[in-house]
Amino acid sequence: MTAARDRTAAHSVTAAEAGPETGGVPGREAPLRIIVVGSGIAGLYGAVLAAEGGASVTLLTKGILSQSNTGFAQGGISAVLGSDHAAPGDSVEAHIADTLKAGAGYCDPAAVRVLCTEAKGDIARLESLGLVFDTDASSGARALGLEAAHSAARILHVGGDSTGAAISSTLIDAVLARSGSVEPGPGGPSPRHPGGAGTITVFEHAFMMELTTAAGRVNGVRYLWDGAEHLMEADAVLLATGGAGEMFETTTNPDVATGDGVAAAWRAGAVVADAEFFQFHPTALAVPGSFMISEAVRGAGAVLRDDRGYRFMPDYHADAELAPRDVVARSIALHLSATGAGTKGCVYLDATVVEAEQGAGYLAARFPGIDTAVRGLGFDWTCEFLPVLPAAHYWMGGIATDLHGRTSLPGLFAAGEVACTGVHGANRLASNSLLEGLVFARRSVTAVFADFLHTTDCLDFTDCLDDDGPAGVARSHPNYENESLPAVHALPPLQALQAEVWTLPDFDVLDLRSLMSSCAGVLRDGAGLDLAAKQLDSWMAATGSMTHARAQTGQPEQKEIERRNLLTTAGLLVAAARRRSGSLGAHYRSDSSEQQSAEQTCRPTIARIKESSRS
Ligand SMILES: Cc1cc2nc3c(=O)[nH]c(=O)nc-3n(C[C@H](O)[C@H](O)[C@H](O)COP(=O)(O)OP(=O)(O)OC[C@H]3O[C@@H](n4cnc5c(N)ncnc54)[C@H](O)[C@@H]3O)c2cc1C
Repeated sequence: MTAARDRTAAHSVTAAEAGPETGGVPGREAPLRIIVVGSGIAGLYGAVLAAEGGASVTLLTKGILSQSNTGFAQGGISAVLGSDHAAPGDSVEAHIADTLKAGAGYCDPAAVRVLCTEAKGDIARLESLGLVFDTDASSGARALGLEAAHSAARILHVGGDSTGAAISSTLIDAVLARSGSVEPGPGGPSPRHPGGAGTITVFEHAFMMELTTAAGRVNGVRYLWDGAEHLMEADAVLLATGGAGEMFETTTNPDVATGDGVAAAWRAGAVVADAEFFQFHPTALAVPGSFMISEAVRGAGAVLRDDRGYRFMPDYHADAELAPRDVVARSIALHLSATGAGTKGCVYLDATVVEAEQGAGYLAARFPGIDTAVRGLGFDWTCEFLPVLPAAHYWMGGIATDLHGRTSLPGLFAAGEVACTGVHGANRLASNSLLEGLVFARRSVTAVFADFLHTTDCLDFTDCLDDDGPAGVARSHPNYENESLPAVHALPPLQALQAEVWTLPDFDVLDLRSLMSSCAGVLRDGAGLDLAAKQLDSWMAATGSMTHARAQTGQPEQKEIERRNLLTTAGLLVAAARRRSGSLGAHYRSDSSEQQSAEQTCRPTIARIKESSRS
């Protein structure tokens, strides 16, 4: 099958036509072409900034623009905006210290410093795009929420608990304002906009299958759209495809979170780091379909009780319900096991104490989205406890990047949850991931301009730059050649990029989720991880269904590729988890339960596909 040539490639606009302010530079006949994959906070923000810098941007997203983890974020976005706008005693240094502590001493301190010190500029940029944070009724200042493991109230929020949806819609408006068209997907009209400098061409329902490479560089993507397979070339690709919660039985993530970006980057040869660290949110409603109850509810005073009504968290950690997320999730699992409730039981979130203390109507006013959702599910949380359990929530591991979003592959950048920048270490601090999406998407775009145009002058967001400025951005992609690699060579005998016949492992994705939850979930041990590795290997060895799909339809189907991607990401996670024999942060091994200190910790578990495994 021949891939159709991309219809939007913007070779036609010259620098002269583009104008000096558009990123058109001497020696280039066309504007910088950037493909952004994903329409969460990182992808949308990256696309807007890249277009503002004068690039010709194409934004691919596999659902509609608003479909992302970002849209589900409730609690808010953490940031210390300066002494005038901070809680008494709070500071950027305190935010840094909290992030490092929650990350179990495993964070990259330089990345954390970047995250916390540069937050202010990106929050201001978000506000300049139209986002309005909630304000305090009496002072009129931005309202600040408290969340677990934060030493001060510093969580900015919108609509009480609708922060993610508000950010998403603000950024979508900004994208559309720079866009000639939104392609509605199968059956829709062909692209109307040529994709000139400073514009964003949006393709909804465009599913990235693979990254394409030439001479060791990533030079485009292969994607499914409008019922056909296409190829699109670019100077740089920014992956912002989010996480992989769909690997587990219960997850807070929407169904787009299938690890496509990590899997595609891995297959292209990029280094993946820290895959063993997957965060489980402690309080997902224990009902079919689940629903996450934000940390901010515990920040407001809600407590956890067992089925006897006993408040157990003080037995497990001095900070009780406000301990870091990994501690609370693990304590729930350990308590259920200790009390004999096992995997079938659940614990209860008691928010009635909040309503009693703050007054009638508080929960509905402060958490309107959660209030509507729980009431819709038949719970009156002002007077009854909510059954909750930990659920797969956030992947700290991902495509290894430097502080500028560069991966180990030239031409490939990654930002947001798909990336492993090192800011989250072994356990992410609540509300730091939206912030990471902003700060590192902006840094990635800056690096693209620096790498290709050797300037960032065309960008008007230099106020957000770190101290080293554009000069500090101009570095090469990181080189991991001398790092030791875990034994994951058995992982993908997955087929080559240009193969005519797609082969896929034959297995049921529900079995994979069940395996991952029982063997590589909140509690892990060596025997379980070995079992998982063996099963994953055997699924990888069995092929068949994709060949079948292609024979019938002439092209692979999205669901099949997602299934393959989940197997790849599960394999990466289990391989890294087997390698790390001690417990650290979210990676808890009940056969070695004492938490390691940062000094005892082994080096980052990085992995890259072995050349011999690539066909
Ligand atoms: C219920 C919930 C509540 C949360 N609350 C908070 C919070 O309060 N504060 C906080 O900081 N964080 C929170 N998080 C985490 C945070 O929302 C995410 O980590 C963050 O939004 C990730 O942003 P992103 O841009 O990296 O990816 P996402 O927002 O997940 O976006 C990924 C995008 O990539 C697209 N995509 C994926 N694969 C492909 C493909 N193959 N081809 C094309 N497109 C693709 C998806 O469709 C999607 O548009 C929460 C997460 C959840 C699930």
